[in-house]
Amino acid sequence: MIAWNDLARWSALCSGVECPICKRQEPLDVIAQLDGSWLTMQEAAAVVGYVCLVSRTHAVELHDLPEEAALRFVRDARRVSAAVASATNAVKLNYEIHGNSLPHLHMHFFPRYRGDQFEGQPINPRSVVQPVYAPGEFQRLRDAIVSKLQASAAA
Ligand SMILES: [Zn+2]
Repeated sequence: MIAWNDLARWSALCSGVECPICKRQEPLDVIAQLDGSWLTMQEAAAVVGYVCLVSRTHAVELHDLPEEAALRFVRDARRVSAAVASATNAVKLNYEIHGNSLPHLHMHFFPRYRGDQFEGQPINPRSVVQPVYAPGEFQRLRDAIVSKLQASAAA
């Protein structure tokens, strides 16, 4: 059942009371801390180079963030976009904000490649056969993204 059909659970997730990110005080698999967000990356991903940017401020919708926090989040998204594009050589980046299961603002970044499994259509994570990474590739790409983020912070 999708979370929003359990009204009490959905309300507790949206308020932050039962938000697993807020209860843990950070998301899982953090690879970088940015001004207004954490960047996460998991080896079990839909595409090579997938990352997720998670707001440090609990908010359900983008417009729920106070303006300064929203600006920090979007600035972080812009830095991540540049770092992922450069590290992956993707032909295009896809950005997705849903929050239908976990309503704590987060943005998915899906690098797209010529000839990828989803060419001509949106990413469908449920149809991906793992692993998407060759041995050692995840660690190399994670380190490259972190390194590019550090370089953009220093610039
Ligand atoms: Zn939260």
